[in-house]
Amino acid sequence: MEFLTGRFLGNIAINMKKYDAVREVIEELGIDYNELENAEKDPGLGNGGLGRLAACFLDSLSTLQYPAYGCGIRYHYGIFEQRIENGYQVEKPDNWLENGDIWGVKRQEYAVEIKFGGRVTPVRKPDGNFKFIAENYQSVMAVPYDYPIPGYGTNTVNTLRLWDSAAKNSFDLQSFNKGDYSKSLEEQNLASTLTEVLYPADEFISGKELRLKQQYFFISATLQRVLNRFSEMHSDFNMLPDKVQFQLNDTHPTVAVAELMRLLVDEYNLQWNDAWDITRKVCSYTNHTIMSEALEKWPIELFSRLLPRIYMIVEEINRRFCALLITRFGDDPIKIRNMAIVADGQVRMAYLAIVGSHSVNGVAAIHTEILKNQELRDFYDIYPEKFNNKTNGITQRRWLAHCNPLLSKHITDTIGDTWITDLSKLEGLLPYTEDAVFLDKFMDTKRQNKIVLSNYIMTKTGVSVDPDSIFDIQVKRLHEYKRQLLNVFHILDLYNQLKTNPALDILPRTFIFGAKSAASYRMAKLIIKLINSVADLVNNDKVIDGRIKVLFMENYNVSMAEMLIPAADVSEQISTAGKEASGTGNMKFMLNGALTIGTLDGANVEILEEVGKDNIFIFGLTADEAIKMARDGSYAPWDIYNINHSVRAVLTQLINGVLSPDDHYLFKDLYDALLSGWGGARADEYFVLKDFDSYVKTQKMVNGKYKNKNAWAKSALINVAKSGKFSSDRTIEQYAKEIWDLKKVEIKMQ
Ligand SMILES: *Cc1c(COP(=O)(O)O)cnc(C)c1O
Repeated sequence: MEFLTGRFLGNIAINMKKYDAVREVIEELGIDYNELENAEKDPGLGNGGLGRLAACFLDSLSTLQYPAYGCGIRYHYGIFEQRIENGYQVEKPDNWLENGDIWGVKRQEYAVEIKFGGRVTPVRKPDGNFKFIAENYQSVMAVPYDYPIPGYGTNTVNTLRLWDSAAKNSFDLQSFNKGDYSKSLEEQNLASTLTEVLYPADEFISGKELRLKQQYFFISATLQRVLNRFSEMHSDFNMLPDKVQFQLNDTHPTVAVAELMRLLVDEYNLQWNDAWDITRKVCSYTNHTIMSEALEKWPIELFSRLLPRIYMIVEEINRRFCALLITRFGDDPIKIRNMAIVADGQVRMAYLAIVGSHSVNGVAAIHTEILKNQELRDFYDIYPEKFNNKTNGITQRRWLAHCNPLLSKHITDTIGDTWITDLSKLEGLLPYTEDAVFLDKFMDTKRQNKIVLSNYIMTKTGVSVDPDSIFDIQVKRLHEYKRQLLNVFHILDLYNQLKTNPALDILPRTFIFGAKSAASYRMAKLIIKLINSVADLVNNDKVIDGRIKVLFMENYNVSMAEMLIPAADVSEQISTAGKEASGTGNMKFMLNGALTIGTLDGANVEILEEVGKDNIFIFGLTADEAIKMARDGSYAPWDIYNINHSVRAVLTQLINGVLSPDDHYLFKDLYDALLSGWGGARADEYFVLKDFDSYVKTQKMVNGKYKNKNAWAKSALINVAKSGKFSSDRTIEQYAKEIWDLKKVEIKMQ
């Protein structure tokens, strides 16, 4: 449902191996090439990591010459544009289509009709089977726009197909009779609202009617088109799984399981058992989170009203699944209620996805283990063969070749350019950890990137930052589990120490944040305000004298990431262990030579495995410890408050007016959430105070290492050299072999 592509121009030029030529020609025409790239609006058709992953996968699929489509929605407004006003996040609409759509090609010839609501009546046919007659439904047209995804150095150009909605009858209103007139107006209204906005929540799903309509809209459109094309070429639907595989990116497209059943049974007249067998062979599901707020569940009332025939099919899938559970476990009502696809008045999309797929994968080793042993344990018990891991990845074409030309050139000058299509080739850099000339130049590319960023920060914010300070960066969606708050508390603690002892010898550091908060997420928005208040305090304090600087960069998006990440020394990956399924930001930083400070969470665990413990800074609770503490309720943050002077000082600053002289209560909800619990949550649900000491101590080790320029440079290089595993090319090869059984298709040009 999301593709966070970032800009197209530069990456298309790189993948066609025409970047230098394009640049030269553009400059020859007297146009500043960078200005031209910057004129393209970021298509922000995703929230964060999940949408960006889908975009990296498309790049890898084309580069590896796998035939594939990305299927999604052409939202007219992408993720909101974030402004910071008086320290607060303000959301502005992102009208990315305002100046036209350069890359999208409208394919009117593939438009299909999508039906919502109404009444469905079963009618017995002469052969004894039922036909399901839909009446009184509303319908809209789905019209695809195709965006090109060229592979690097290949002739493969895959398609990102985004569906837009259009009214079925836009003209001729007068000719309708009265009833049809109002229905036609309703349908026009639906068509114009359906694909208007992306829901701007990450890891937090609220069951909005329009969102379910969006899901069914793009899924039905995609499946109708796929089956139309399949049936033009084949008549035996048992061949469908050999020709078509659907990878469901989280539960958002899971209605595909029921829609495929509907099309096979109702439209193509297959028997239920045959259709079910085919459906399970065609569908696979990727789980992206164990945050319960992100698990999609739809009220039966809403689901059955909007999608009456689909609900009948879900009920039948559920009935058969519950029958299976009874043969397995006897009539154990608690077990069955816990696992049923329909229960407690809701349709549980994750369970529909698991039951209707042949593969269920997590996105990092630790995440898959948590799925198997905790979150989805009951399902793992009955379908162990379905579960597998596919650790996420990133494309090095965008996240090194495009975003960091200086480092790219230095690498290519040293070991050649084969890393662009085989990232494991970066291991060829390992011998250079002993080469002073190489390392000097390597660290100089970092310094150049830091200077570029410093200049950008100066023009955008007026804050001067020292390119020789440590650039410590945390950029990702704002969420309590990602613990931007822990980072802020470390900064406040540093500030307090410098105020107590101004002569303290610390290394200058520039702390950079970038993060959008869901518009309705109170705590997250308050944390943004807190970061900006801390920035005001620290950046303007004479005693601090510029030794620490804090910046909140407005409107974090892919293009902003491409500028920030190459300039980072320290990568903040500090989620509560067990909560970050994988993370991909961590991989982008590593690839660009930043050292990670992080918890044993998500892909951090595998980054540690690759670089070794001397080249990463690991701190805090393990996932097992955090899960156990959350379960047994033994954690008492007040004990930390009473024992730890630094924690007490920082917490007190939330309520003593230092950060908010005009309103001492401004940050009181944060204080309460940490010490007493807020809005029904446990006190310090994400173990910020618990991990504080370990984090601060580990940050001191970061300083210690940075003082030794050579040791730092070596570790940074080892991070680059060992990032091969985290290419999305590796991830896609695994999906192709282990889930899709997909073969490469080489496109030959005449
Ligand atoms: C990579 C990326 C993310 C994901 O970052 P995490 O740190 O893995 O959460 C989110 N937003 C953008 C713009 C990205 O490029």
